[in-house]
Amino acid sequence: MRVLSVVGNRPQFIKSGPLSIALREAGIDEVVVHTGQHYDRELSQVFFDELGLAEPRYRLDLHTADPAAMEPAIAEAVARERPDWVLVFGDTNTTLAGAQAAGDVPVAHVEAGLRSFDLSMPEERNRIAVDRVAELLLCPDERSAAQLEAEGAPGRREVVGDVMADAARIFGPLARGRSEILGRLGVEPGRYVLATLHREANVTQVDRLRELVAGLERIEEPVVFPAHPRTRAELERIGARIPTVDPLGYLDFAALASQARVIVTDSGGLQKEAYWYGIPCVTARPSTEWVDTVEAGANVLVDADPDELVRAVEAAHMPERRPQLYGDGHASERVAAALYPRRP
Ligand code: UDP
Repeated sequence: MRVLSVVGNRPQFIKSGPLSIALREAGIDEVVVHTGQHYDRELSQVFFDELGLAEPRYRLDLHTADPAAMEPAIAEAVARERPDWVLVFGDTNTTLAGAQAAGDVPVAHVEAGLRSFDLSMPEERNRIAVDRVAELLLCPDERSAAQLEAEGAPGRREVVGDVMADAARIFGPLARGRSEILGRLGVEPGRYVLATLHREANVTQVDRLRELVAGLERIEEPVVFPAHPRTRAELERIGARIPTVDPLGYLDFAALASQARVIVTDSGGLQKEAYWYGIPCVTARPSTEWVDTVEAGANVLVDADPDELVRAVEAAHMPERRPQLYGDGHASERVAAALYPRRP
């Protein structure tokens, strides 16, 4: 069996790491297509080096987020490789382009059925579009599977858990053992706040970015803020002087995330990682697709309001009871198994 995996940006490299291992172990041949949606070293190559990802057979180097520009080149790779599946991850424009370029090859969607119910987010529109065409819907939990059933998505649903939990399980302990990032940044475990912001709605709406930065600047503990290139450009444009560091590789970042007192973010993946690492999270977004973390009392949503942000960071704590969310860290093996045709 042959699978063609389409990846293009940071969270996809991370998701595809554990999956590549599981595919190899299941005897499945994987061909990787890298669209080049992310191309800075810190957002791309570093993950291939650290997580042992298969070298992409196709590096499209497109340097664009436009799915229409990606589709023809992906379709060409599909035509040449004739895979049994096209595997797409998450909710980015690379995900959408991969699903649309598959033609008559069935699509398997990792992270199917997630919804924030905020259609102004491009990610939400991508999720819905990909779930409509995917033949195999690989859901992180029962909630996402139920959502797909309610929408009448025609594909086969399998609840497999979350592949990002696999990455946190495999690489988290390794990161804490190996990384020297806390010492390099001069912070101590449990005594700093880790912040990331990169969502389109937060960084391109200058007023929101200003308010969020004002909130971060008023936090009394040290704030470590690895800034995504898009965020950095906007911070410069508005003349914000908040100290930032460059985006980090997965291992350094995991070491920081798993030892922070609080995480402030608008990232999807990081809200879950915070939960798995047992770190309370403040999410700077009006909605989230990871509602269970909020319901568990481990994640609080705040709007772009500095007072609200500061109060939420001060009050943030983990609940006493922490149900297991989004699987057991062995989703990749289940994905590999689900790719084999079912016997009638
Ligand atoms: N991450 C990283 N280095 C950083 C910031 C984030 O490795 O400097 C990782 C983080 O641990 C998580 C993933 O990137 O696994 C989240 O990606 P991102 O926030 O870009 O995307 P989203 O999850 O919002 O789709």
